[in-house]
Amino acid sequence: MTVHEIVAYPAPVLLQKAAAVTEAEFGPSLLALISDMAETMYVSNGIGLAAPQIQISKRILVIDVEWPDREDSNLYAIINPEIVDAKGEIVFEEGCLSFPDLTVPVQRHAELTLRAQDPSGKPFEIQADGLLSICIQHEMDHLDGITLVDRARGDHRVELIRQLKEQPWFLPELLPPDVSL
Ligand SMILES: [Zn+2]
Repeated sequence: MTVHEIVAYPAPVLLQKAAAVTEAEFGPSLLALISDMAETMYVSNGIGLAAPQIQISKRILVIDVEWPDREDSNLYAIINPEIVDAKGEIVFEEGCLSFPDLTVPVQRHAELTLRAQDPSGKPFEIQADGLLSICIQHEMDHLDGITLVDRARGDHRVELIRQLKEQPWFLPELLPPDVSL
């Protein structure tokens, strides 16, 4: 297994829409990528990772909200996800492996129904609430080029950007010309 480098905001790959995984792409190399993504997430103490965060612009997520309680570890590998139903609202102080050391309150759906493919290509559905629901929505945002900077609102966004500008990993020269913070 290979631990990949996780890119920080605003790496260009984090600001673009990721491509669907095609039928032809299911197979051993996809399974290897998912193993690498899980390992990368675990060594980074994350509870979710989207492929664009390791510079692969594909609609692939790994999520394990039980980590670091590894006895209860429950890894979800999620390909081509779609939210088919959502209800309620929940606000949670979210972090992101692409925004090291920063957190910001974000509003999400409290509950959702997710439809996706598993690593073998088989369709499945899950109902999620609580942290799993939040994490799914956060990671799915990465597949559409949406980050915490886009989700944070009002004073929380102002404060996030203020702290962002102080981070040694933040490279403002990577921001697209039409984005100013
Ligand atoms: Zn993230």
